[in-house]
Amino acid sequence: MEEKECIFCKIARGEVPSDKIYEDEHTFAFLDIEPNNLGHSLVIPKEHFKNVYETPDEVLGQIMATVKKVTLAVKKGMGAEGINIANNNEPAAGQLVFHIHVHIIPRYSNDGFHHWPAKPNFTPEQFKEAAENIKKAL
Ligand code: 5GP
Ligand code: ZN
Repeated sequence: MEEKECIFCKIARGEVPSDKIYEDEHTFAFLDIEPNNLGHSLVIPKEHFKNVYETPDEVLGQIMATVKKVTLAVKKGMGAEGINIANNNEPAAGQLVFHIHVHIIPRYSNDGFHHWPAKPNFTPEQFKEAAENIKKAL
């Protein structure tokens, strides 16, 4: 999708309204319109990059600095007991908006969410092979 049509570019430019939390020269933070818990926030770079694969390290650093700032504010402002920080890349991983963003989700011990279940049946050989495959790809 072109930047012109990208919903998060439009939000960063102020062309589409959002519940803005914070902005600086490079990043913008606002409330997710369909929150997992109230206060669920998104941090985006103002410049358009599709996903983490394509985002320069320098921009990732700017995003993460804002993620930390907003995380501390969400924790304090929403009285969160914990925070999940998440980033989805590609449709198979649940990415719906193709402008990189980081989710900051306030969590409470009684909010009913659980960790993703572990798949328990891999062999030690499979672990070794997976580690080798990943190391080779570095
Ligand atoms: P993804 O699944 O791509 O990681 O997450 C996209 C997120 O963006 C979703 O949680 C969705 O609720 C949020 N979102 C999509 N469109 C809009 C919008 O127009 N405004 C806001 N504030 N959030 C949006
Ligand atoms: Zn964009």
